[in-house]
Amino acid sequence: MQGKIALEEHFAIPDTLMDSAGFVPGHYWEELQKRLLDIHGQRLDLMDKHGIETMILSLNAPAVQAIADVPRAIEIARRANDALAEECAKRPDRFRAFAALPLQDPEAAARELERCVNELGFVGTLVNGFSQRDATTPLYYDLPEYLDFWSVVAKLNVPFYLHPRNPLPQDSRIYEGHPWLMGPTWAFAQETAVHALRLMGSGLFDKHPNLRIILGHMGEGLPYMMWRIDNRNAWVKVAPNYPAKRRIADYFNENFYITTSGHFRTQTLVDAMLEIGSDRILFSTDWPFENVDHAADWFDVATISEADRQKIGRTNAKSLFNL
Ligand code: MN
Repeated sequence: MQGKIALEEHFAIPDTLMDSAGFVPGHYWEELQKRLLDIHGQRLDLMDKHGIETMILSLNAPAVQAIADVPRAIEIARRANDALAEECAKRPDRFRAFAALPLQDPEAAARELERCVNELGFVGTLVNGFSQRDATTPLYYDLPEYLDFWSVVAKLNVPFYLHPRNPLPQDSRIYEGHPWLMGPTWAFAQETAVHALRLMGSGLFDKHPNLRIILGHMGEGLPYMMWRIDNRNAWVKVAPNYPAKRRIADYFNENFYITTSGHFRTQTLVDAMLEIGSDRILFSTDWPFENVDHAADWFDVATISEADRQKIGRTNAKSLFNL
């Protein structure tokens, strides 16, 4: 398929590059590093070769979210966003931008998002899970201190991409002795799905019904779990014990979008289409952690209708980001 738009596509600046070093074996690091720092070379060649018209670029992970020194987190976010704006300006027909945000300081994050959207033309933000102001406290965005930040996101009317990071060491005890379960194998999805459910149950979307949250990796497992979340013990007739007013699936279906990043499997896509609908699924690759050819070669011939392929590959992203 030609004209695809992909939106979980990462780059790094020298300050954040090493955050990605642990995610591949040492002898692949040289290649990953080269991929992360490149915008207009190999990346653009692959886009041309595999029918991707536009990539919406975002900083690697966890980057800003893991910088406990708040002034430094603010500075690195700003530096990364300025660098990205400069690269996108060279090829505005091919590259658009998601803002990195220092959510350790919700007020500073709101100002940076306003700057990125209003002055730099960014189409939204991609945030790498919880933020931290120290080594042990994960700050999730359903906490009351984030309410004003969400008002700004709602007012700017731009999507918020909730991207994974690994849990902090003291929250990773279930994985002890099983390091293979960290990262994209399992821990990323677990961490991000719970964060998304916290947002849904918190009542955030009752306050701001127009907020749009994007999840990668085919919804981090949530489509597959959605029925059970609302229907466990259905014979027990009590109201759900969370602050939100509606069923969790109502928020998932009305406030969330998911992408195919890093999850190139037709069976899983069809399940997601049956739960959230093809209007809310968007093609993505997760370059440079996944290969563009693996994503595109699968998606271009996946056994879905051509109408759905056009929506997921292109037109959903065009409407969501006003491209
Ligand atoms: Mn990613």
